[in-house]
Amino acid sequence: METMKRTKIIDVLASTAYGTLVNVKGWVRTRRGSKQVSFIALNDGSTIHNVQVVVDLDKFDDELLKLITTGASLSVNGILTQSQGKGQAVEIQATEIEVYGTADPATYPLQKKGHSMEFLREIAHLRPRTNTFGAVFRIRHNMAYAIHKFFHDKGFFYFHTPIITASDCEGAGQMFQVTTMNLYDLKKDENGSILYDNDFFGKQASLTVSGQLEGELAATALGQIYTFGPTFRAENSNTPRHLAEFWMIEPEVAFNDINDNMELAEEFIKFCVRWALEQCADDVKFLNDMFDKELIARLEGVLKDSFVRLTYTEGIKILEEAVAKGHKFEFPVYWGVDLASEHERFLVEDHFKRPVILTDYPKEIKAFYMKQNDDGKTVRAMDVLFPKIGEIIGGSEREADYDKLYSRIQELHIPMKDMWWYLDTRRFGTVPHSGFGLGFERLLLFVTGMTNIRDVIPFPRTPKNAEF
Ligand code: ATP
Ligand code: MN
Repeated sequence: METMKRTKIIDVLASTAYGTLVNVKGWVRTRRGSKQVSFIALNDGSTIHNVQVVVDLDKFDDELLKLITTGASLSVNGILTQSQGKGQAVEIQATEIEVYGTADPATYPLQKKGHSMEFLREIAHLRPRTNTFGAVFRIRHNMAYAIHKFFHDKGFFYFHTPIITASDCEGAGQMFQVTTMNLYDLKKDENGSILYDNDFFGKQASLTVSGQLEGELAATALGQIYTFGPTFRAENSNTPRHLAEFWMIEPEVAFNDINDNMELAEEFIKFCVRWALEQCADDVKFLNDMFDKELIARLEGVLKDSFVRLTYTEGIKILEEAVAKGHKFEFPVYWGVDLASEHERFLVEDHFKRPVILTDYPKEIKAFYMKQNDDGKTVRAMDVLFPKIGEIIGGSEREADYDKLYSRIQELHIPMKDMWWYLDTRRFGTVPHSGFGLGFERLLLFVTGMTNIRDVIPFPRTPKNAEF
């Protein structure tokens, strides 16, 4: 077969160079046809769309043709032709075909369409070859790019915070321990406590639950930074919104108060949603048509209005009124409760019908570093609540006052020896500052319309599941 430079299918489909010879490579999605001619739908991952390869059966060897089944990989030389059929502008009249690899129809699992999402999770090594997961993972890439673009264009610096950490200061969740100790032969002191002196780091270490504390160090030097990295939480919550390993984006800005923080969060998330609509139009349209007919309308919906801004206390009042009018929630509503997803979604989907930023939460249900309000009861927290998702962003203005922060750390019995470096930001040149964390997969749930977070990350890690 004549060697030619490969053209990606996305470029072939946009080409009008009819009559020229092109080469495409990809995987067979379907093959259909008659005794004289076969139509092969070929996909190479560059786009949701397949190119149609037309094969005149008389011109090819039977032995070769037999190998061209769903899942097989091919290199095709052929003439780019204006298509007569509907649904595509161009097709390729094959002149030469090489089969790189076959896919036995008896065992290749992606034979028919319409597999359940549960089944596809069991074959996560092959599911990127489906239309759905191709679309989701192309969107995932594009959103990562959009996030870097948004912050870079605003003059933020991408700051790398450690993945292995020796302090669970955040208290954001249960941590995974990192150790090189022999678990069959742990050294303990007379009280039965494990001795970490001989462990790799000489002390107990874990995978990070958040880069925020280190992010604050950077913000109080570089002004405005963001992190974008993997985060780990060993919480045993088997929900469609929680992963044990997920990616988080955490901007942190010196001199921003909570209002600046809310503005940044709203602008940021709208930028990302607009990017998905404009830059991933084909993939979003596919997901809209196949899975969720309201996806595009929902994405356009959040761009339209400004987000509602409401205090936690006002939010509780609305929820209590709904309960009084007979609305049934699974979990109770009262001032002081950590809102469940059903409460958050009620405010967004039923009451306001647009995204809500809830502020000033009770200090007991929020982290120690949040700025304390004068009422002595609430802190300057802000959660952004989204339709279908609930909490998509959690953030706050940070406590900048050394004494207030110090006494909160003591109240919560957080070991001071782990916190000295963090407290130094308030000892030396402290400034008002704010930041937030966006769960990358929660954003992807929203822009793809997928309903389970396991379906927006290539290889999900959840309780009892770390396959692939
Ligand atoms: P939730 O109440 O939903 O469990 P959280 O309040 O524990 O979340 P934060 O500590 O505020 O979460 O983390 C910031 C953001 O990270 C959240 O707003 C969410 O988008 C995301 N996030 C938190 N935990 C997870 C998880 N286990 N899997 C995926 N994303 C998560
Ligand atoms: Mn939160």
